[in-house]
Amino acid sequence: MSLAIRRLAILGSTGSIGTQALDVAARHADRFAVVALTAHGSAEKLFAQVRRFRPALAGLADPRFSLADVPEDLRFCRWVFGPQALTEAATCPEADMVLVSVVGMCGLTSVLTALEHGKQVLLANKEALVAGGRLVMQAAQRAGENALLPVDSEHSAIFQCLRGAQGNPYTKIYLTCSGGPFRTWDKNAIDRATREQALKHPTWTMGQKITVDSATLFNKALEMIEARYLFDADPEQIQVLVHPQSVVHSAVGFADGTVIAQLGTPDMRLPILYAMAYPDRLPTGGEPLDFFTLNGLTFERPDPVRFPSLRLAAECLAAGGAACCVLNAANEVAVQRFLQLESGNPMTVGRIYAVVEETLQRVGNLPADTFSQVLEADRLARETATRLL
Ligand code: MG
Repeated sequence: MSLAIRRLAILGSTGSIGTQALDVAARHADRFAVVALTAHGSAEKLFAQVRRFRPALAGLADPRFSLADVPEDLRFCRWVFGPQALTEAATCPEADMVLVSVVGMCGLTSVLTALEHGKQVLLANKEALVAGGRLVMQAAQRAGENALLPVDSEHSAIFQCLRGAQGNPYTKIYLTCSGGPFRTWDKNAIDRATREQALKHPTWTMGQKITVDSATLFNKALEMIEARYLFDADPEQIQVLVHPQSVVHSAVGFADGTVIAQLGTPDMRLPILYAMAYPDRLPTGGEPLDFFTLNGLTFERPDPVRFPSLRLAAECLAAGGAACCVLNAANEVAVQRFLQLESGNPMTVGRIYAVVEETLQRVGNLPADTFSQVLEADRLARETATRLL
């Protein structure tokens, strides 16, 4: 056990991952110091966190805020406002590790910046790898071993399983998937499903965007792409398994037929704390898995006809270039519209699939070898998807 205090910056501290990271950091105050916290616009939540954890830096990425909004008693730390808040937190000299748990493309910039500044990145943002997978992995390789640790529960599971491989190559990655609220629905019902129906996730409690993505299985589509880059996998080596109990968090297969899986109760504090304390294992405060309460674990083949997201991800992985970036951007725009609260919003789940597929067709294949090419593909995809909506 390495007992030096680890100094943690959290980008997106008021979200679901951020608050759970603070929960485990507080539980292990002898192991972690919280040195930077940023939120987008949840100012009151952030103020409460700053009051409790007393970081050296705090920021609100929404540019409408300024120091005038900050209560007097919280002005002991450096405050940063606007997009600069993320950059300053990602590079802040007080931090050893940066938990990137912001939603959206700003995660890509934050991850690359933190890696370039020698920080260990705990990655809870999907867009960074999905849109800029090659760039992120190149930056992680330059930064050294374990510079990038996954926080997503499935990728944490795969990462943990591979630690038992002793360098043996895997033959298969089994990416598990709860199946979401539409697992047993027929295609027409899924296509007609509304926001309220999509927001009812059976096993995990998460932010709204990821909850919708878990219903459409775009979350799993993005995770296939993440796994491809994180573990340098051939797309054919990645097998999605629908596993409604969310107990097997993912698994890895080897040449001799062995499968090593990681199991646990569905509690995000486990993969968060695993990345924070790596390679140590610390108590999360959650219940340990009780095998005797499990009423059977089941596994189903995913259905790319009812859930076109899985088919689109496979097509984008085969196409290469910026296709995965375009898929991500189009989905983000479509889900944003889907979540808008105006009454009589006619947007359905089927429309999300249609907008993503049509955006991919219209944008065509673009290169994604440089940061500016990725941004350009992302911009063009958003513009196209917005026009289609
Ligand atoms: Mg996941």
